[in-house]
Amino acid sequence: MSPHNRALAGLGGSLYAWAMLDDPKSALRPDTLAAQAGHFVDPESGAVTPALHSATTFARNPDYSLIGDASYTRYGNPTYAPLEALLARLEGGAEAMVFSSGMSAAATAFQALSPGDHVVAQRQMYWALRNWLLEFCQQWGLRLDLFDAGDPAALQAAIKPGETKLVWIETPANPTWDVIDIAAAAEAAHQAGARLAVDSTSATPVLTRPLEHGADLVMHSATKYLNGHSDVLAGALITAKTDAYWQKMRDLRGGNGCVLGPFEAWLLLRGLRTLFIRVERASQSAMAIATALDGHPALSGVLYPGLTSHPGHQVAARQMSGGFGGMLSLRLAGGSQAALRLAERVRVFIRATSLGGVESLLEHRKSIEGADSPVPADLVRLSVGIENAADLIADLEQALAD
Ligand code: PLP
Repeated sequence: MSPHNRALAGLGGSLYAWAMLDDPKSALRPDTLAAQAGHFVDPESGAVTPALHSATTFARNPDYSLIGDASYTRYGNPTYAPLEALLARLEGGAEAMVFSSGMSAAATAFQALSPGDHVVAQRQMYWALRNWLLEFCQQWGLRLDLFDAGDPAALQAAIKPGETKLVWIETPANPTWDVIDIAAAAEAAHQAGARLAVDSTSATPVLTRPLEHGADLVMHSATKYLNGHSDVLAGALITAKTDAYWQKMRDLRGGNGCVLGPFEAWLLLRGLRTLFIRVERASQSAMAIATALDGHPALSGVLYPGLTSHPGHQVAARQMSGGFGGMLSLRLAGGSQAALRLAERVRVFIRATSLGGVESLLEHRKSIEGADSPVPADLVRLSVGIENAADLIADLEQALAD
């Protein structure tokens, strides 16, 4: 471990007082911890919100020991401390690390593997990560096998006992919202001597805590629900235990410099304070939209894990609590043209990529992913925000009308 990292490994103590986060036995519920940023009170000023430390470098004492915990922001910044402590608590993990983006968080988990290692990932996942993975594995010498998310036996079949080092899943998965059984995936991975990592961006710790189901690592595009306001690009990893793999990822973050800017970290913690009410509201509205549109004559399907007709509903009901999330997709009976027409006619939904913000977004994924993507051309993805659900339903109904 580098001296910088050694100093940062003990972050948390002198500068901050997050009494409840420091006590893993605290009986306070996660929504209380999030709302109070871990019961944050700055011991020096009494401030009830954590400070933003824009400094890139941190002074030393005459004996050359560090004054605080940080030395240089590429290796860590005090603004991260309450944020990472809260993320670790929300996911029930040992430690968390924030990154400059979700992609850099995910990339770090793969870069920490060694050439020759075998990895398994699902085919239906965030498309940019799948494309990056296909190229990276080839260049880095990782052996990659993709499995079909809709087929529970396919994951097991793709794993090679003794050779597979990492199993990567995303659940519910973009943009069809296939649900993967995290506990079953963890068991299959562990039996083969592999770790299980879960991209839990769409579920959030409000609805699913993958580590409680046996996963080893959780990844978030914190750009989405964790921040929630479409104004920060960020990523996060949360680990069940602080082992050599975790330390390697910490060294890579500092070495590669894929660190989050202090201002973004500060904004992200502010966003996290309202995570629970945002996700609960979005989940309720998504369920209302899915129910209202299920069976609509202009649609050939409504893909939402909350609907009992969704193939992943039973597993989702087991591993998600408090709702099924704010993401759903519509399949248009009239095909690609009808999907683009729906996009053209909406007035409340905004035509834009991304998800998890307070404003509702609509996207024709095929237009974004390109002709060689497996995503159906008749599919429109909805990210449901926190507006009044009746306005969202009325908007979609008028856009679907003849
Ligand atoms: N994972 C999922 C499920 C995503 O939706 C995204 C972005 O859309 C990412 C990862 C990548 O995150 P970022 O855009 O923050 O790099």
